[in-house]
Order: sequence, then structure tokens, then C-alpha cells
Amino acid sequence: MKILVANIGSTSFKWRFYAFEGEEERLLHRGALERVSDYGEAIDTCLAQLREARVLERAEDLDAVGFKVVLGLRVTGCVFLTEEVLRDMEEAYDLAPAHNPPYVAGIRKFAEKLPGVPLVGLFETAFYQWIPEWAKWYAVPWNWRENGVRRWGFHGASHKYIAERSAEWLGRSDVANRVRNLYIQGPDQPVQDPPLRVISCHLGGSSSVTGLLNGVAIGNSMGLTPQSGLPQNNRVGDLDVFSLALVTKRLGLSLEEAFRQLWKEAGLKGVSGVSNDIRDIRAAAEQGNERARLALDLLVHECRRWIGAYLVELGGIDALVFTAGIGENNPEIRSAICAGLQEFGIELDEEKNAQAIRTEAEISRSDRPVKVLVLPTNEELIVAREAKRLVEQQK
Ligand code: ADP
Repeated sequence: MKILVANIGSTSFKWRFYAFEGEEERLLHRGALERVSDYGEAIDTCLAQLREARVLERAEDLDAVGFKVVLGLRVTGCVFLTEEVLRDMEEAYDLAPAHNPPYVAGIRKFAEKLPGVPLVGLFETAFYQWIPEWAKWYAVPWNWRENGVRRWGFHGASHKYIAERSAEWLGRSDVANRVRNLYIQGPDQPVQDPPLRVISCHLGGSSSVTGLLNGVAIGNSMGLTPQSGLPQNNRVGDLDVFSLALVTKRLGLSLEEAFRQLWKEAGLKGVSGVSNDIRDIRAAAEQGNERARLALDLLVHECRRWIGAYLVELGGIDALVFTAGIGENNPEIRSAICAGLQEFGIELDEEKNAQAIRTEAEISRSDRPVKVLVLPTNEELIVAREAKRLVEQQK
């Protein structure tokens, strides 16, 4: 089975091409285009590269194209991207302005270019279908809930990958299997004692923390939209909604402009005034730029806030995992996040930490009870696996 996974940004297009045969999963091709202005052309370039690499002769041979779609108002899970699903995503444009518009546009182009090839979306919210009720709701007027005001949680593909991979790393194949089959069999699969408790920190262009009990999420630091939770590269993170009352009055901003600033000019970029990239922010902080230092501190301490929340809800943890661009590449940030947590069984081996760059590694002291791991994420693989499953199910 041949699955293309398309990762669509507002001006970028990345892809990975997988072949599945029996139990074997192979990544046969990957590529990226930047500064994309015409998605139709970008799709043609991708297909041409797959042909040149001799991994896919004809587009019709694709069994599916998979997308890591972000937010629907009603739809979640892993689904065929029908007109109805696309409309549901369109209704959520205001909630995910950085993500949904380019995705819907890109998916429509794929549908035009590849008629007959199933297009499958794995929603980033899918991993949170089984979170407890208290993790799902805000304390809003009761009827707001019926209009979609709820906590979702995002980065589902990444945290699911980490749930499975961390369980394997910790020798818990029972939990790993449960995670792997989660979208087929649901959470009612037996696992052994003791329970496996993990906190997964996805720190990248956007960041979130998830608590995992036996591989299943109990919540995520993001809520209704991917603008919430930890401060993101240029998106705000958690904010008291009444701030809007202040800035519309004092700065004379329209509500629309205020929202635009919150998803484009805020986050690490807004605070640091330097960049939305942690490398630039760190360099500036090292040279004494106080705003850059503050941006780093906000990221670190908001991450600790959520680690604290899940540490308590899980009643202690067996492992703490760092993943994604920042989590995999920045020992200093991992070190700051783990500082002073010896009482909770968490203590880094700084030498191992310093060496763990973009690779799987255990970075905690071996005599401490909590394993701290660096595990590079693989969201595309999760999308490809789930797309394959859905297409197989339909056959
Ligand atoms: P996205 O959420 O867009 O997929 P990534 O997971 O790639 O983003 O994370 C992007 C962040 O990771 C940026 O802040 C970037 O500075 C940081 N990052 C990526 N590679 C490195 C690296 N080699 N060293 C330090 N930071 C890095």
C-alpha cells in the first residue's frame, strides 16, 4: 500500500511517501518546497519527484494521501476528507486561522489533481477523544458548550507517536500495542499493572504538553484552539480573555485586529521582539537581551506549569519525554524545565543531556526513578498508518 503524507503550511509544502507491505513500513521518499504560492504546481513538483525517484509511476497508484488536519468544529478522528468535512473545517477558520485555510485550500487542490485517490485526514484533536470530562470543559455558561466552546487538545499525532514509542522504550509492549490500536479498538484494551504514567512535551514551532495514562491522553495544554496553552512561536498561548476588553479600548483595536495580533504577532516573537525561532532568541538572550530572556523563561515556566498539572493528576510519573524542534535540540531548555525536581524523582544527567541532539536518548541520572527521554517525533508515520487503516477498513 502506497501512502503520501502531505504537510501543508501557509507557504510551504512537505511530503513523505510510505510503502506498507505486511508488517513492513518503509519511508521511500521525502521532500519539501518553500515559498509556495501555487499549490497545484507544488503538487505537480512532488509527483514529478516521486516519479524521478522511481517510487511512484502514476498518481493513480496512490492508495491514499494523508493529511495532519488541525481542527473541525464537529469532526474529529481519522476520516475521509469529504465535502462535509472540509466545510466543517472552513467553519473553524476563525479558530485556527494559521492552519485551516491553507489545509483546506491544499486539500481541494489535491482533490482536483488526483480524482479517485482517497484523501484522508487525521485530526490533531483525535487523540483526545477519551479525555475525562473535567479535562474537556471550560466553566462557561452552559449553553456555550452546545456551540462548540470546549477544550480539544492538539498535536495528537505527535503525542500518540510518543505514547507508543515511550512505552516501547520502557519495555511496556502491552501499552505500546494499546496505543497502536487505539483508533481501531478504542481504549478498552487490557494492560498490565502497574499503570504507565508519562508526560510528553512537544516543544517546537508550536508547543504542547500531554499527560498519558497507559498510553492514552488525559488532557493537553491546548484548549479550544491551537492559539492556547504554552506560548507558541508567534501565537499567544493562554491569555485571560478579558485582555481583549482592555486592548480594544486602550489601543483602539478592532476585535479582528486584536485576534490577528494574537495569532501572528504574539508568542515568543511578540515577547522577544527578536524572532519566532528559538535559536535566534537564545542567541539574543546570551547577549543580554532581556526580552529574549523573558520569552525563554515564559516557555520554560509555562511548560513546567503543565508538567506540574499532569504530575499531580497522574499521581507521579515514570517518564518525562521531550520531542519536536525545541525539545529534541535544546539541552539548555530541557535542563531549565527539569531544574529542582529531584523531590519528584526527576534529575538530569547533564552530560547525557548535552549529547542528546535529535536522537533517541535517556538523559536522566540512572539512579533516579523517573526516566527523562528525548524521542524525536514522527507525526507523518502516524498519519500514514492511520490513513492505511482507514482505507483497508473500507475495502
Ligand atoms: P514545527 O512546529 O513548525 O514543525 P519544529 O518542531 O521544527 O516546528 O520546531 C521549530 C523550533 O525548533 C524552532 O524554534 C527552532 O529554533 C527549533 N529548532 C529546530 N532545529 C534546531 C536546532 N538544530 N537547534 C536548536 N533549535 C532548533
